[in-house]
Amino acid sequence: MRTRTAIIIGAGPAGLTAAYELLTKSTDIFPIVLETEDFVGGISRTATYKDYRMDIGGHRFFSKDDRVTALWTEMLPMQGSPAKDDLVLEREKPLQDGGPDPETTYDVMLLRDRVSRIIYRRKFFD
Ligand SMILES: Cc1cc2nc3c(=O)[nH]c(=O)nc-3n(C[C@H](O)[C@H](O)[C@H](O)COP(=O)(O)OP(=O)(O)OC[C@H]3O[C@@H](n4cnc5c(N)ncnc54)[C@H](O)[C@@H]3O)c2cc1C
Repeated sequence: MRTRTAIIIGAGPAGLTAAYELLTKSTDIFPIVLETEDFVGGISRTATYKDYRMDIGGHRFFSKDDRVTALWTEMLPMQGSPAKDDLVLEREKPLQDGGPDPETTYDVMLLRDRVSRIIYRRKFFD
């Protein structure tokens, strides 16, 4: 029985995660998310323009916190088979036993190598 209410401002990843946690963990708190835009996802959303889909902010999941990673993989399990580009480029990736096949479903987390840099005054900074 939910007897209390939490008002959460913003339906970006932080607000949505807070609401999800309150709903899925046994709390007596009912979350209400207030979002000023017509869409959810904040700057981590995928925007659509004509036939194009663009990731504005978040492109990849990366966290040093195991609880955060566990939450993501609870929603989107790690790949259990190689993705097409890994096969073509002959890249080896550790695969999750029993994980989904990226060639048959979109509901799968793909493992990606990452390099993050900012270009400033014609120089790359890690
Ligand atoms: C260029 C770029 C690349 C990035 N790449 C990555 C990446 O690869 N991986 C990664 O993990 N992260 C990445 N990030 C960071 C990631 O996008 C943010 O950390 C994440 O979106 C923050 O989530 P948030 O919910 O705190 O805020 P936001 O995503 O900003 O969401 C805030 C929400 O609150 C709403 N809001 C604001 N004010 C009000 C109000 N007064 N009333 C109601 N609603 C309101 C906004 O409309 C929005 O929907 C990147 C960011 C940028 C800019």
